[in-house]
Amino acid sequence: MADNLNPFQIAQRQLDEAAEVLKLDPAMHELLRWPMREFHVRIPVRMDDGSVRVFEGFRVQYNNARGPTKGGLRFHPQETFDTVRALAAWMTWKTAVMDLPLGGGKGGVVCNPKELSQGELERLSRGYIRAIGHYIGPDIDVPAPDVYTNPQVMAWMMDEYEKLVGESAPGVITGKPLPLGGSAGRGDATARGGIYTVREAAKVLGIELKGAPAAIQGFGNAGQFAHKLAVEILGMKVVAVSDSRGGVYNPDGLPFEALLEHKQETGSVVGFPGAQDISNPELLELDVTVLFPAALENVITEDNAGRIKAKIVAELANGPTTPEADVILHQRGVYVIPDFLCNAGGVTVSYFEQVQNAYNYYWSEEEVHRLLDAKMTAAFHAVHQAAQSYRIHNRLGAYVVAVERVAEAVRLRGWA
Ligand code: GLU
Repeated sequence: MADNLNPFQIAQRQLDEAAEVLKLDPAMHELLRWPMREFHVRIPVRMDDGSVRVFEGFRVQYNNARGPTKGGLRFHPQETFDTVRALAAWMTWKTAVMDLPLGGGKGGVVCNPKELSQGELERLSRGYIRAIGHYIGPDIDVPAPDVYTNPQVMAWMMDEYEKLVGESAPGVITGKPLPLGGSAGRGDATARGGIYTVREAAKVLGIELKGAPAAIQGFGNAGQFAHKLAVEILGMKVVAVSDSRGGVYNPDGLPFEALLEHKQETGSVVGFPGAQDISNPELLELDVTVLFPAALENVITEDNAGRIKAKIVAELANGPTTPEADVILHQRGVYVIPDFLCNAGGVTVSYFEQVQNAYNYYWSEEEVHRLLDAKMTAAFHAVHQAAQSYRIHNRLGAYVVAVERVAEAVRLRGWA
């Protein structure tokens, strides 16, 4: 991986810029540049054919000054330790920008879940918990779903953890299925939170969203619900959608339900009847009002940032834009809603899930939506304000808000 595309080096560069704006003292800066604790494990799994395969796994507990570390777990063939470190750093800034009493963490397993049977996936999920189970817990570190993991994986993991500790402990993991202590509203929370921030951005920019075109790169959990909710909540017209195999475009709009059905039947959005096939790079450069990168890192770089035509880039993915691209987009007046603000709805409802688990009392979906909206709206305006008053781009504005909060907790603890 080229150094300038190494996500952890990117995360450190972003922090360095914020440290300069905030004039952080050197010890504090050094502490915040690195994970405080990390695990590198091997997970032996009995495969269906009787052989044993050994998988590589990671868990990074980046910083717990504000509370237990929190963050998702990815199952991905290209997972690396540095990607997980970056994602854990971003979780630290994400929980802080949302003002949640949590730190940041992340996990990953190098595997291709599309090539594993359900049984193999279950044994891998349980194996991961056997490897790191003694170092997580409701008051220590709390995993959740992320790329290619889902509520079923969370259910197996919770079950394995409870066997390990010998008691009920639903708060050890979030994004669980509803009957096992999941929260109403967790399924679409990442996209919903992002949609609320787009609504607020359009207000401050004076942009009309009703009937305006949107494009979505990525059609996993975040991308699918972004499609549904951009139409339902914002009245937008989603003209393009893509997944890892390619994309589809129809200037009159793509119907959500039919597209989802097509994806479920064929494994991809590509070839959707009545739409034109386009590539992922082409989708990013479409002339739309809102572009939602909702897949993986490093898709908007210095190579294509000059050609992004969207007025608002709403980053549902983690790390989709490189620092070089940030500068270009800012100069060109593209309004970026940075990842750890835009996609923070997921962890926010995860936090609500933990609160409900601790109370053993559950809220309605309406209540979750109301609380999520209030949290997203407050965080959006805190970031917008910071960016305006320091005359910096929104990502740096979000860093300034988040890093200041984490630094304050570190100072109060007397760590630096
Ligand atoms: N994986 C999601 C994220 O990147 C959610 C994390 C969580 O719910 O803890 O924010």
